[in-house]
Amino acid sequence: MRAAVRGATAPLVILGAGYAGVTLAQRVWQRTKGGLPIILVDQSPLHVLRTELYEIGEMASARGDSRWSLPLEEIFDRTNVRHQQGRVLAIDLAHRRLELDTVGIKFGTLAICLGNQPAYYGVEGAREHAHQVYGLEGARRLAGAIREAERASVHLQGERRPRFVVIGGGATGTELAGDIATTDWSGLTSPGARSPEVVLITGALPFLPGLPASVQRHAREQLQGAGVMLLEGINTTRVEPRSVFLEDGSKLTADLVVWAAGVEAPALVRALPVAHGKGGRIAVNPTLEVPGFPGVFAVGDVAEVVDPTTRMPVPQTAQAAIAEARAAADNLVALRANASLHPFVYRERASILALGPKRGAVTVGGVTLWGRPVSWLKRTIEREYVRSLRRGEPSQLL
Ligand SMILES: Cc1cc2nc3c(=O)[nH]c(=O)nc-3n(C[C@H](O)[C@H](O)[C@H](O)COP(=O)(O)OP(=O)(O)OC[C@H]3O[C@@H](n4cnc5c(N)ncnc54)[C@H](O)[C@@H]3O)c2cc1C
Repeated sequence: MRAAVRGATAPLVILGAGYAGVTLAQRVWQRTKGGLPIILVDQSPLHVLRTELYEIGEMASARGDSRWSLPLEEIFDRTNVRHQQGRVLAIDLAHRRLELDTVGIKFGTLAICLGNQPAYYGVEGAREHAHQVYGLEGARRLAGAIREAERASVHLQGERRPRFVVIGGGATGTELAGDIATTDWSGLTSPGARSPEVVLITGALPFLPGLPASVQRHAREQLQGAGVMLLEGINTTRVEPRSVFLEDGSKLTADLVVWAAGVEAPALVRALPVAHGKGGRIAVNPTLEVPGFPGVFAVGDVAEVVDPTTRMPVPQTAQAAIAEARAAADNLVALRANASLHPFVYRERASILALGPKRGAVTVGGVTLWGRPVSWLKRTIEREYVRSLRRGEPSQLL
C-alpha cells in the first residue's frame, strides 16, 4: 500500500480548515511548489480563529465579529489549494473515498484535521440548555444571549445582578469566566445595566489540568480578584433552562449557562475502524500517520499524539496543532519523494491564559508573568498569526 502512495499525483485531501488544516495546506503547497493537487475541505468558507472565541465580552459589545475569522479564499488566493465547501459525512479509508453532503471525492493521500466537538458526558440538559464557545456559531449565540441578559438586567429586582454560570475548569472555561467578569458592561448598550455575577464550576478534576502550577496559582488569584466565584471539587449533574444542579443535590439559579467542560472527537471520526485514544481521538503513530493506513495522517485536536519523551499526550491546543501540521506536511512531502518519514517532536513555546484585557498568566522559558502583559502577548501572537496567513508565510510566534 505504501508503494502506491509514494510518488502518487492523486490529490492530497485535507479535511478541516482550522489551525491544523490551513497550516498543512500552506506548507505542502510551499514545499511542492504547486506540483501536487491539494483539496481543502471545510463546511465553512472561513478559517475560524477559535483561540479568540473566549473574548465574548468584546464580541457581545462590538458591532461585528469579523476579527474571529478569515475567508479561506483570501488565504489561498495565490496558491493551487482548492477549497471544497461541504460537510464530511463519511471517510472510507479502505477505498480511499470521502462522502461530503455536496460531492464524493477520491483521495491519494489524506490529512484528517476535523478538530473536536463538545462532550457532555451524559449530563442531562447540558446540550440543550447550555451555551458553548467551541465554534463560531456557538460564540455568536452566546454573545447575543449576553446582550439580552444585559438588557433584561435593567429590570432586576432589588440588588440582584444577572448570574452567569460557566461549567469547566480547563483553559476554555477559565478564560471565558475571566473575560465575562472583566468586560466593561458600561460599554454595552443599555443604560443602567448591571454587571453579571460570574460563577465558575471547575468540576471534580484539578483546576487548569496540564498547565504549570504557577499559572494555576496566578489564574486562581486573578479570577477571585475579578470577583469570579470558584466552585471547585464538585461535578454538575443536570442543567435546566435557568438552573444548574450539582452532585451534592444543591441547585444554582443562573440567567445564562455556558458548557466548557470538555471535548471529544467528531462522531464520524469515532466511527472509523482505527485505534482510538481518549475522547475517541485517532491514536496516531510517531510520524502522525494513522496505523494501518499509509498516507493517511491525523493532525490537531482530532489526533492523540503521544510525546515520546514525557509519554504524555500532546495538549489539544492551536500551538500543538500548528506544530503537528508542519511535521505532517513534511512527512507527506517525504512520502511522495520516497524519502524517510520523521517522528514528530513537540516543544511547547508558552502556556498562556488570558483572563480579559488586564489579567492572565503565562510561562515562557520557565519564567511566569501575569497581569496586563498577558493579554497583550496573546493578542500580539494572534495578530502575527493572521498577518503571516495573509502573507502566505509561516508564523514566527506559533
Ligand atoms: C475558546 C477557546 C480558546 C482557546 N484558546 C487557545 C489558546 O489560547 N491557545 C491555544 O494554543 N489553543 C487554544 N484553544 C484550542 C484551539 O482552538 C484548538 O486546539 C485548535 O482549534 C485545534 O485546531 P484544529 O485544526 O485541530 O481544529 P479546529 O481549529 O477546530 O478546526 C477544525 C475544522 O474542521 C471543520 N470541520 C469539523 N467537522 C467537519 C465536517 N464534518 N465537515 C467539514 N468540516 C468540518 C471545522 O469547520 C473547522 O474549520 C482554544 C479553544 C477554545 C474553544
